[in-house]
Amino acid sequence: MKNKNFEFLITGGGIAGLMMAFHLRKAGKSFLVIDNKLAQSSSKIAAGMYNPISGKRMSVNWKAEELLAQLHKDFIEMESLLGANYLVHSNILQAFGNVKESNDFMARLDYPAFKQYVNVESTIDCALKNEFGLFEVIGSGWVKTAEWINAFQDFLKNEGNFLQEHYNWEQIENCGENWQWKDYQFEKIICCEGSQFGQNPYFNWLPFKLCKGQVLLIDCKDLNEKYILKRGVYLVHQYDTIYKVGASYEWDFENAEPTEAGRETLIEKVKQMIKLPFEVIDHLAGIRPTTRDRAAILGQHPTVSNLYVFNGLGTKGMLQAPFLAAHLCNHLLTGERLHKEINLQRFHQFYVSSHSNTKV
Ligand SMILES: Cc1cc2nc3c(=O)[nH]c(=O)nc-3n(C[C@H](O)[C@H](O)[C@H](O)COP(=O)(O)OP(=O)(O)OC[C@H]3O[C@@H](n4cnc5c(N)ncnc54)[C@H](O)[C@@H]3O)c2cc1C
Repeated sequence: MKNKNFEFLITGGGIAGLMMAFHLRKAGKSFLVIDNKLAQSSSKIAAGMYNPISGKRMSVNWKAEELLAQLHKDFIEMESLLGANYLVHSNILQAFGNVKESNDFMARLDYPAFKQYVNVESTIDCALKNEFGLFEVIGSGWVKTAEWINAFQDFLKNEGNFLQEHYNWEQIENCGENWQWKDYQFEKIICCEGSQFGQNPYFNWLPFKLCKGQVLLIDCKDLNEKYILKRGVYLVHQYDTIYKVGASYEWDFENAEPTEAGRETLIEKVKQMIKLPFEVIDHLAGIRPTTRDRAAILGQHPTVSNLYVFNGLGTKGMLQAPFLAAHLCNHLLTGERLHKEINLQRFHQFYVSSHSNTKV
């Protein structure tokens, strides 16, 4: 008979849930991931790019060095487990959009933490329009995210640790010491539901913000596939002469479907970015789970002690998830304190306000 008692239930098998599963598995813990394998999940639409430098102000990411080290370490192990390669080391060639951007960048070179990730004297020949100059980001790359997700979900399924199903929170019963779903029992739940957090009655008070993103797949000959190109949007090689272009950032939207306006905007940006002709072969959209302060949210529910959240990866799921999953795993198994920047406790007041008249 199949084992139906697990230490952990992981709700959601995107980047967050799967990295959590990877670390619990390594620690020898028993767990079950439930995921409905939504084709349009954020994790599957993502270009999977990781970049230690982010944002318009081009700042070095929080704990960039540790995040990159954990990402590389985990994918070396993951690739040996799955017998295929998913992580592609690929420097970014980034062109400035105007003189101000170039000047701001030069001023940042005074900071050694920033300078270690850039090469200002890049002489790579590429099709990027760069009348204001360009620089190279060192240490960046991308993960073949959709391929990895499918392969790792299949791997976990073969081990009896993955179930393709749509769960409903009304069916998940809190029995005090443990949780019951159908005829399964779990000691703890880790909620990794991405943009579907709103269906979760225990964590829907957290200040998540949804951000829709649209991407194109284009066919473009003669591009240098070794580099990720960036100028307003990015271009990441996928296979043969196919590249992913992304992405839009939409805070106000009606649904998760790709739109004609989104497609036109991306096409225009590619024309401003490269000198080569291209053909659009697909157009996709997904919804990012972001947060009010742009940092992920991890930790224990304020009153339900065997319930945890790992969400809010925002625009940087791939860079952050391995480190944060390892960190949450250590917290769960050894009691290591969570970093305050990502700890759910920073939003405790939201819980107090939203529950001042109700009981959960
Ligand atoms: C257009 C676009 C481009 C992006 N590009 C990048 C990029 O280049 N690099 C990068 O790092 N990040 C990128 N991102 C962001 C990245 O995709 C997210 O940070 C990351 O995927 C979030 O992962 P997650 O596991 O938290 O959420 P999700 O990917 O949403 O995963 C949650 C999973 O839970 C499942 N689920 C939820 N509720 C239920 C239920 N009731 N029953 C069953 N299953 C359920 C969902 O179906 C889903 O599979 C991009 C996002 C978009 C939209």
